[in-house]
Parts: sequence; C-alpha cells; structure tokens
Amino acid sequence: MLAFVLIIALALLAALWFMIAPVLRRRRRLAWSRQPVPPQWPEWLRSHMPFYESMPRELRERMHRLMLIFLREKSFVGCNGLIVTDEMRVVIAAYACLLVVNRPGVPRTHFYDDLMSILVYPTAFIVHEREEEDWIVTEGHRVLAGQAWDARRIILSWEDVREGVSEHENVVLHEFAHYLDMEDETMDGAPGLGSAAAYEEWSQTFWDEYEQLCDDVDAGRETLLDPYATTEPAEFFAVATETFFHQPGALREAHPRLYEQLMKYYRLDPASWIGGHEAGGSGHG
Ligand SMILES: [Zn+2]
Repeated sequence: MLAFVLIIALALLAALWFMIAPVLRRRRRLAWSRQPVPPQWPEWLRSHMPFYESMPRELRERMHRLMLIFLREKSFVGCNGLIVTDEMRVVIAAYACLLVVNRPGVPRTHFYDDLMSILVYPTAFIVHEREEEDWIVTEGHRVLAGQAWDARRIILSWEDVREGVSEHENVVLHEFAHYLDMEDETMDGAPGLGSAAAYEEWSQTFWDEYEQLCDDVDAGRETLLDPYATTEPAEFFAVATETFFHQPGALREAHPRLYEQLMKYYRLDPASWIGGHEAGGSGHG
C-alpha cells in the first residue's frame, strides 16, 4: 500500500515538473535577454560577421538579445587543449542566433531547446567511422570542420570558423542549418516547415535546384553554390544557407526560387541589407 502511494506521489511530482519546467525556462530566458549587451560584442562581430554592419539595427539588437540567452544556456567545451575565449563564444552564438532570429516562438520555445553543448576544436578534427552492411564492416576516418553530432551537441573547428567567413564559407551556419534540418527527426534537406503545402513547395524547388546543380557540376560548369552541396540533399540545404547569408544578391539573381524558399523559412531577406558585403570569394564550410 505504502509503495503504491509512493509511486502515485512520484508520478504526480513528475507531471507537475513537466508542467512547471517550461514556464520556468521561459521566465529565465526573458530575464537573461534583458541583461546589458557587453560593449566588446560589436567590435568582435564586425570582424567576424561581414554583414553585421549592414543588418537592420533592430535585427542586430534582437540577435544580441538571443545571444545573451544562448550564451547562458549552452556550454562551450574546448577540445584538444583549446581555451574557448569570450570572442569565440560570441561569434558562434551570433551565427546560431541569426538563423532563428525571426523564428516564431523564439526565444520562449524552438530555440535550440535540446542543444546542450558546443564542442570547439582548435583545427579540423578526425572522426572515426564504422559501417556495417551485408556482414561487411568498413572502418575509416574523416577530417571535419564541423559536425551536428546529435540533438545535444554540435562540434566546430575554430580555425575553420575564423578563416572560412572571409571566403563565404561558414561552418557555424552550415552545422546549425543541419541541426534545424534534424529537428523533424530526419536530416533530409527539409527542415520543419509547418504545413504540407509548404513542404510541397519546398521539395519541388529544392529537388529541381539540387538536380540542376548536380548536372552543372557533372558538366564541369562554374556554380555559385559550392559543389559539396551535391553530396546529398541535406548538404545542399546547409550550403545554400551559407550562400543565402554570404552572397544573397548573387543567390537571388541566379536562383530566385531557392532564394525565395530560404527567405520564407528564415523570415529574413539578406539581399535587402545595404552595405555590399558580397565582394570576392566563394565556397562552403
Ligand atoms: Zn554538412
């Protein structure tokens, strides 16, 4: 009898906690977002985010508010001896928050809620892989600049974060785009879009554009999107996201349908940000 009462009490407590926890998290997030923005941020962001100055002021401020929450909530872990500095944290947080700056529900919900840590390596890192198919085991390793490991962890190489941005490669945007893509359980190049009609429109556009890019790369034609995007649809979405922010004018001109889909999804129109940050370079991260 006592055990029964105990089990009921524990179940009630657990149910109560599930109801209260999101309310507490919302309150915490709102309080953090009202903290003052450290004075060094604009300088760090100007040197690591080429379009920072051209972003509308209110958008920049909203991004700062989200960063205050992100930096309090997620832990940054230095790997292979790297000491993660405040500047590194701020730059990574800025790109992560930019992707969801206009997302409905943010920052109360849908704000990388399950993500716990960002592991930062000084340079590209090696991942060991083991695959088993038809009793044949293949083992090997890959050298990576970043990896959206699972719902709780994202791994980045700081060297690639720092150097890529000037070349229009952006491993932070790339991996966080993968993370958003994974939120609906599958990493397939289509993030959660809300409605069946939106999925239909998205998959038609993305599939056409993906196949066109594969044809162009096979034919040896020069492409705006990095050929790495042809690896699979998930990579196409991540690479297109990088180009959307770093070469928005060029993307809108060369791939208007793709640009429009990304604009609808991110609820941002980077091509309209004035400042001409698009000069030079091309590539992916
Ligand atoms: Zn990728």
